[in-house]
This record gives sequence, structure tokens and C-alpha cells, in this order.
Amino acid sequence: MAGEPQDDCLFCKIVAGHIPATIVRETETTVAFRDINPQAPTHVLVIPRLHYPHAASLAAAAPAVAADVLREAGEVAADEKLDHYRVVFNTGGGAGQTVFHAHAHVLGGRGLQWPPG
Ligand code: IMP
Repeated sequence: MAGEPQDDCLFCKIVAGHIPATIVRETETTVAFRDINPQAPTHVLVIPRLHYPHAASLAAAAPAVAADVLREAGEVAADEKLDHYRVVFNTGGGAGQTVFHAHAHVLGGRGLQWPPG
């Protein structure tokens, strides 16, 4: 069922504590942890505890939690003292999504080019 933990989902396993992660922030609805393959000096993923496959499905089903994810992305940037940063939701394999549990990438700590590749 939508929103329920999925046995085969890596990020559900991180939420459950079954896979270790370097957690930097937690709330009742979200977890933020460092990306295992960082693409910038700061690269943190903010995820909802609930399982939805991408950001749009999360926002449609649980808009308050989607707002929590965005707020926490900003809190991560503040914690990391980033004066500029990028929040990215890759959506679909063609856009680089590899984990189908909604997540915001928070990238910062270096110059960021536009447009992204
Ligand atoms: P996506 O490619 O937008 O789906 O982002 C998934 C991200 O999860 C990638 O940047 C991966 O490096 C990251 N990732 C995969 N496995 C782990 C893990 O076990 N811990 C932390 N990050 C992970």
C-alpha cells in the first residue's frame, strides 16, 4: 500500500535502522543522511519516513510531509552553513533516479553549474 514500508527498498531499510547511514537530522516525518557517493562537499539526502516512489507522488498523497522534506533541506543547508546550494529531486531513470523512494538531494560547498547535466 502507498506510504507503507517496502521490503525491497534501500531507503525504507535506512529509516528502519536496518542499513547504517550517517544521519545528520531526524524529525517525526523525515530523515536526512549523507550520500554514500557525494557529488559535492555537502551532499545530504532528505527522505520522508513514508515510502513513495518519487517527490510528485509524495506531494500528491502527503503534502504536509513533502513540505517537511523541503523545510529540512533548508535546515540541512543552514546546519552546513551553505550560502548557496541546490535541492534536486531526480524523477525517473532517465533523470538519474536510482532509488525509488522519494528523496531530495541537498548539494553545496562548491560552485554549481547551470544547467545541470
Ligand atoms: P538518485 O540517483 O537520485 O535516485 O539518488 C540516490 C542516491 O542514493 C545516490 O546519490 C546514491 O549515491 C545514494 N545512495 C545509495 N545507497 C546509499 C546508502 O546506502 N547510503 C547513502 N546514500 C546512498
